[in-house]
Amino acid sequence: MGGGLFPELEPEPEAAADAPGQRKRWSHSKLECYRNCPRAYRFRYIDRIRTERESIEGFMGARVHEALERLYQQVVMTRLPPVEEVVEHYHDRWRAEFSTNVEVIRPDRTADDYRRLGEECLRTFYRLRHPFDDGRTVGLEKTLEFTIGPGNHPMIGVIDRLVEVGPGQYEIHDYKTRQRLPDPWDLERDPQLALYQHGLVQLQPEVRSVRLVWHYLVHGRVLVSERTPERVRVAVGEAVRTIERIEADQAFEPRESPLCRWCEYRPICPVFQEPRTEAGAALVRRYGELKRRVEELRLAQAGLREEVAAYARARGLETIRGDGSSLEVERRSRWIEKAGEDGGALRARVLDRLAELGLLASSVTLDADALGAALEAGRLPPDVSDAVRPLLEKKYYPHIALHEEEARGGGPAP
Ligand code: SF4
Repeated sequence: MGGGLFPELEPEPEAAADAPGQRKRWSHSKLECYRNCPRAYRFRYIDRIRTERESIEGFMGARVHEALERLYQQVVMTRLPPVEEVVEHYHDRWRAEFSTNVEVIRPDRTADDYRRLGEECLRTFYRLRHPFDDGRTVGLEKTLEFTIGPGNHPMIGVIDRLVEVGPGQYEIHDYKTRQRLPDPWDLERDPQLALYQHGLVQLQPEVRSVRLVWHYLVHGRVLVSERTPERVRVAVGEAVRTIERIEADQAFEPRESPLCRWCEYRPICPVFQEPRTEAGAALVRRYGELKRRVEELRLAQAGLREEVAAYARARGLETIRGDGSSLEVERRSRWIEKAGEDGGALRARVLDRLAELGLLASSVTLDADALGAALEAGRLPPDVSDAVRPLLEKKYYPHIALHEEEARGGGPAP
């Protein structure tokens, strides 16, 4: 299993490569690649340019997926391997597969950091899921081949783990090793597992219900979603529209984005082939200098703001008079997520709690200040107040406004 083109993408199902003369087969990774950058799509799936390069994120994800597949293979055979065995096998595979083609992009990390992170993912998963008895595993790295849309576009996907939890009741489990937890709203719109749900129902008509389960291994979090047939149809419709856009595309324009840092086609991408000119270099230089000066001024202004606030506070002033202008100093407040906790985890806890209380739909764009204001005004039900109160704090800050007085007599100030 190779690493994905971009760190956020799943590795491509091996079978997704189109055989000559065969009708094009689509996969979530293919569609996502096009949405991220049509030119990368062209390089990979039309020009079929493959490089040896692999991102460390993709490499680590592939090793962790392998380790969990092996773990469940043994669980299916009624053997429960100790966690040390799982971890040891992971390190063995890491050593066997690692090469100089695996690229670490972030300058503050090493390959060893990722290796340890992968191990931590496995240890946390093991601790939280032990003794692995949450239903009957009926598929591991299970390939689904199905069709979507009125054009019956062939589609392929790989389910990390398919679980039968009751007669006709299934769960599609997916492992994620990315470090960013999705917002619940993004998760609800995530098309990948919805497409797999569509495929599963198409292939196994006895399926009565499907739950989508994501294991965010870095955070030790399990996120769950259930999609109504209507919402699955929406996901399928979006996939079909992307396929139609790809089929109609003639240019496959490059789309520059932060993902370019991870893109294996960067060395041949036209975006990064622009010739250097003296005039261009001078613009870059001037822009950089200006940016540095703006930053210096911003820091100086922040320091001065503190001084002004301290001066006004010491004298009990709301206005500091100057010559022809004045500063109005006002004490304002806003609610923020409490410091000292991991922001992502904190936000996820609040959202989880709101979801439990059935209030998620109105709070998907969690705004600590709006939530704090509602809390203060007593507009939240008591149990919601209890959930969010420990997670927020009110911060006071000086708001400073400069008022320039009109020059007397209409002329310029002396
Ligand atoms: S480097 Fe960026 S713009 Fe170029 S192909 Fe890759 S993702 Fe697209």
